Amino acid sequence: MSASLSTLELFEHYVIPTYGRFSVRLARGEGSRVWDEDGKEYLDFGAGIAVTSLGHCNPRVVERMRRQLGELVHVSNLYYTRPQGELAKKLVEIVGAPGKVFFCNSGAEANEALYKLSRKFGNEANGFALSSGGSANPDAPHRRGIITMHGSFHGRTLGGIAATGQDKVKKGFEPMVEGFKHIAFNDTPALEDAAEDGSAVAVLLEPVQGEGGIHPVAPEYLRAARAVCDRRSMLLLFDEVQCGLGRTGDWNGWDTLAPDVKPDAVSWAKGIAGGFPLGAIWVSARPVQMRNGEVKPLCDLLGPGTHGTTFGGTPLICSGALEVIAVIEEEHLLENARVQGRHAVESLRALNSPWIREIRGVGLLLGIELVADFGSRCALPSGKSPSIYMVERLHDAGLLTIPSGTHTLRWLPPLNVQSGDVDEAVRILSDVLDSLPKA
Ligand SMILES: *Cc1c(COP(=O)(O)O)cnc(C)c1O
Repeated sequence: MSASLSTLELFEHYVIPTYGRFSVRLARGEGSRVWDEDGKEYLDFGAGIAVTSLGHCNPRVVERMRRQLGELVHVSNLYYTRPQGELAKKLVEIVGAPGKVFFCNSGAEANEALYKLSRKFGNEANGFALSSGGSANPDAPHRRGIITMHGSFHGRTLGGIAATGQDKVKKGFEPMVEGFKHIAFNDTPALEDAAEDGSAVAVLLEPVQGEGGIHPVAPEYLRAARAVCDRRSMLLLFDEVQCGLGRTGDWNGWDTLAPDVKPDAVSWAKGIAGGFPLGAIWVSARPVQMRNGEVKPLCDLLGPGTHGTTFGGTPLICSGALEVIAVIEEEHLLENARVQGRHAVESLRALNSPWIREIRGVGLLLGIELVADFGSRCALPSGKSPSIYMVERLHDAGLLTIPSGTHTLRWLPPLNVQSGDVDEAVRILSDVLDSLPKA
């Protein structure tokens, strides 16, 4: 009888243990707060992992989706539905360049669509069409390589772990999907070398590496990547799953870093629908020279029958995403993300804590890196990483944060976070740091 089992016991007996979970059992949320099964309150500075971008149970999103729930939840993608079309239009406007959108259910799946787009481009096209004309070459060698970055994260599918530049996600799942080549992030000569032999067809990168510890791309590197891709007719792909749609204080992560650089395709997920599972890609309308002589827009390469999904882009979830975007616009939350992000960085730096090595922040993507010898100074048991230890201590003190690697804490509060919440989070962190053994 399930009634006699605790939540922890239910997981222990019935849920496949892919996660090392924290012992927190959450039951309810509102705005930037959540409550556990015993009624203990937490300030939520994880927001899923950059997912609930308007906090929990935003009243406008709840109302819009409640209405849609009573109208139409799901039909197959064999039919047209208005909310999907309207959301696609909105996302094209957000990118600010001609193109089209495909919907799926998650970040890993959005990236899969980018890999499939790259394969199509490499197998069936010669490259971008030249404005001067040019001609098709049906015998040119196929290009199949996708260049990705060390420290990146692109999801947990077989394609995703092959793309990801971290060995820990691949271990035990060999053989890897072929074609991915990993290079050092922010290293222009390494990129030029990797593209040298002409076998690569795309470069994929996160404008701000999230899982890798909040590392922004250098603007000059982004420009160099654009130049390499243009020179070799390769696709420049941005994984904006974590940094996109407002997180950095702009709609697009790349706009915060180098607004003059435009990608050929983008993936989104996490914050897009305020907590509901939705992924999407935007693909540019740049004309492509096909091997068979045709010229057509890149965004039409994935034509009928080439790709699909049962659930992607349902009217229910698209209506929620439209409302999330409307709230961000009407409540000026991009500006709020910039202002509160700056406030958080300044307040954290003012702590001058001997336990903190560095504060990194782009909008409300914040990384707090602990000092390298944190573990030995605190006499942590071997195998306990400083980031996990600190996250647990912060849980006890009523603050939810996300570990990133062994030494970094991520703060990803909702985009409508207020300065009172930021001050409270900083105070909780400060108290926990003060209670550590004196350095
Ligand atoms: C989380 C994440 C993914 C994977 O998204 P899922 O929805 O978990 O599949 C991909 N790329 C980046 C940058 C992410 O942060």
